[in-house]
Amino acid sequence: MGKHSGRCLCGAVTFSLSDDPVGTRACWCRDCQYICSGNASLSVFFRQSALRVTGAVAEFSAISDAGNLIRRRFCPICGTPLFADAPAEPDYLIVRLGALDNREIGAPATTIWTASAPSWAWFDHEKPHTPGQPR
Ligand SMILES: [Zn+2]
Ligand SMILES: [Zn+2]
Repeated sequence: MGKHSGRCLCGAVTFSLSDDPVGTRACWCRDCQYICSGNASLSVFFRQSALRVTGAVAEFSAISDAGNLIRRRFCPICGTPLFADAPAEPDYLIVRLGALDNREIGAPATTIWTASAPSWAWFDHEKPHTPGQPR
């Protein structure tokens, strides 16, 4: 058993993570707004090696606003966003917070791409935030 676990909405995909997260982030890039119903994505970063997945996962790869190739994985039946990663940073795995059983671990330490957020968007100005991709 892992330290953390999660699943998609329909339950066809389940997963576990054998380690603790290494970071959290909210992203208001335009791509994330497509997959998160107009909201920011909430991501929890893990080591790639911590992940074990059961069930078939579909994927879609595209170039991000920052110019990086991002692979997004999701349930092919219900469409729940599950994971994302980038060939440029192969050690790191993004797990979409909504799929995790314990969402308490997902309070975003930083918020990025605030420049493409709608004017009504709320984020914590007391915490680090950047208008685009951080260096
Ligand atoms: Zn599903
Ligand atoms: Zn994003």
